[in-house]
Amino acid sequence: MSVLIFIDHIDGHIKKASLEAASYGAKIAEQTGDTAEAVLLGNPSGIAELGRQGIKKVHQVQNEALNTIDAQVYTKVLEQVVQQTGAKTIVFSNNSTGKGIAPRLAVRLKAGLVSGAVALPETSNGFVVRKNVFSGKAFAKVAVTSDVRVITLNPNAFTIIEGEGTAEVVAFNAIVDSPRIKVTGTTKTSGKVALTEADIVVSAGRGLKGPENWQMVEDLADTLGAALACSRPVADAHWRPHNEHVGQTGIAIAPNLYIAIGISGAIQHLAGVNRSKVIVVVNKDPEAPFFKAADYGIVGDAFEVVPKMIDAVKKVKGIA
Ligand SMILES: Cc1cc2nc3c(=O)[nH]c(=O)nc-3n(C[C@H](O)[C@H](O)[C@H](O)COP(=O)(O)OP(=O)(O)OC[C@H]3O[C@@H](n4cnc5c(N)ncnc54)[C@H](O)[C@@H]3O)c2cc1C
Repeated sequence: MSVLIFIDHIDGHIKKASLEAASYGAKIAEQTGDTAEAVLLGNPSGIAELGRQGIKKVHQVQNEALNTIDAQVYTKVLEQVVQQTGAKTIVFSNNSTGKGIAPRLAVRLKAGLVSGAVALPETSNGFVVRKNVFSGKAFAKVAVTSDVRVITLNPNAFTIIEGEGTAEVVAFNAIVDSPRIKVTGTTKTSGKVALTEADIVVSAGRGLKGPENWQMVEDLADTLGAALACSRPVADAHWRPHNEHVGQTGIAIAPNLYIAIGISGAIQHLAGVNRSKVIVVVNKDPEAPFFKAADYGIVGDAFEVVPKMIDAVKKVKGIA
């Protein structure tokens, strides 16, 4: 039997979140004595290199109709791959693509679905998965009792395995439905680093007073190679574009480092960022709620602290 991992890609490259899912799926296969196989729709670079994450075989489906992500069409293709491989555990990243496909596939397979897994399952007695609940405020242990299970793994919850090996790549001839919707145009967001894939995120809020003050935030992000984010009021006031808005009603992220500048730390903001590995808060108010969620806090005026942070990072990186 196999554990099947869905591999997602963008601009010809496999997404970091999918490398995490591949590593996670391969570890589950190791635990259960199964084989780790992957399914990939399209033709990005580095397919055989998935062997480094422990994938033995990749089922590659190539069809023009799959060039645009369509959850309904993708689901039916994946169902065919599951049926042919006999996979009992199917793993997705809990990113926007995974969130769109996994529940649909679970319904079609009559499988139990666990979304937002954060650790390897306990498989010694049943199949029990730990997941985030209540916007990351608590964990739940979910026992999956169905024969087939679909799991989505939270981005940044599992370290990518960088082992050795090459995966066998086999073409899979799937029946591909005509999409019921047609994407007539896409507009790319302008950020230099994609927010959901970023290792480091520099974020700022209303404490910055106005859009004219964002240059120092951008400079800090550039120096760190980070993506930019903001609080909701900042996007609502059109100081920054809405695709940078993080939180309960914005994008949920889990970078390794989240730097929050002039953001109070309201519960709705925290809901989207509290899975970050390390949180650094810069706020002039020592009572700001964000300090309770912070790993490191700097009480001070952002207009004095941020330029010093830029200088310090430049010094460490040896940039003049
Ligand atoms: C249903 C609902 C959904 C929501 N969803 C979201 C969401 O997804 N994301 C989100 O962000 N918000 C969301 N909100 C809004 C949220 O409740 C807060 O109002 C918002 O997060 C506050 O943004 P802020 O921290 O930038 O601004 P403020 O609350 O105004 O805080 C500004 C902070 O900057 C500090 N500051 C001021 N000047 C300086 C300075 N010079 N140097 C350093 N610090 C300074 C202040 O001490 C303060 O802590 C939602 C609200 C509701 C009701």
